Amino acid sequence: MNLPVENLYAKFGDPYRVVEFRAFSFNTCRAGCKNCFYQKTNNEFYDFQKCYDLAVDFKKNHYTLETFYILPTDIFENDFNYRVFYDEKFKSVAKLFNYIGVASTLRHGFDEKIFDYFFHEFPGLKIELHVNLLEEEIGKPDYVQFLSQTLTQIKTQYGDQILINLALNIGSQWQTGQLNQVKHLVSEYSQDKILELNFTFMFNDKISYAEKARLIESSYPVLEYFGREFQKTERRFNSRTLLRKPSITFKNDRIYLSPIIPFDEYIFMDEPDFQLSETNFDSFLTTYQKIEAKNIPQRQECQSCEHFEYCYGKGFFSIMNHYNLPCLKVCGGKNGN
Ligand code: SF4
Repeated sequence: MNLPVENLYAKFGDPYRVVEFRAFSFNTCRAGCKNCFYQKTNNEFYDFQKCYDLAVDFKKNHYTLETFYILPTDIFENDFNYRVFYDEKFKSVAKLFNYIGVASTLRHGFDEKIFDYFFHEFPGLKIELHVNLLEEEIGKPDYVQFLSQTLTQIKTQYGDQILINLALNIGSQWQTGQLNQVKHLVSEYSQDKILELNFTFMFNDKISYAEKARLIESSYPVLEYFGREFQKTERRFNSRTLLRKPSITFKNDRIYLSPIIPFDEYIFMDEPDFQLSETNFDSFLTTYQKIEAKNIPQRQECQSCEHFEYCYGKGFFSIMNHYNLPCLKVCGGKNGN
């Protein structure tokens, strides 16, 4: 099948296609993690027929269905959330993907029953487990020991069936020494040697536009630090584009496409132009084009910047313009425009 707008691929070169889905179906969490602004109630997405239809459409268009994340709360904080995994339509979606993604602090360990059920029900499907770091505990020997023991136990029991990567909520001002401690944990325990950065505040409609802008900008030093430190595994300005690796979020009755802040973090935009009007691939392309219409650099330095194609390909200017953000190269500071 030909793509309706093949020229878009021509524009970005290699038509390597991978897609991830994020469904907001989990509720209630008492972990109280610092800088977690997720709404922990009223995440009511259960219409997995929509996920199925869109997944099949992406597959027809030669996309690899990489990870289907079920979010936003910690999977092990209450068993009630597990009912998603017994939903027949969810099962048919899950089987189309390579991974099911879930997140946990592991503060109460992990639930073997649900893992065992999962691997029995979905042979061949793997779990991508984001282990959310407890910010206040980072650097404490007891915490490092706890992580070491728990993650070793998971690896021993489940081997390659579970892919573990560490995750951190954005929102704090970090000292270099603290970031070095996080880097050390990532190098020890993240299998992909990457750190997932969670911009949880973007999903909270009770946080103002100005505060969201401030929090995104305050993340620059962290992006800068990890972009630099993890260059071997994930180049800061990598060539992953919004078209090559779209992230689709299913939240209540809406479906969203999220642009990317380099190096590779999706920024959820709760705006009409970032929503799919229908559950099909054409609607994804239409939304992509609407984002493209907003993806125009307003700052002069972008025109001659060596990183232009990366920022452009990710749709970053649509975020930058909406929140009046400075250039990413200028770590945490205004660029004078
Ligand atoms: S100047 Fe900054 S925002 Fe503009 S293209 Fe370069 S890195 Fe991106």
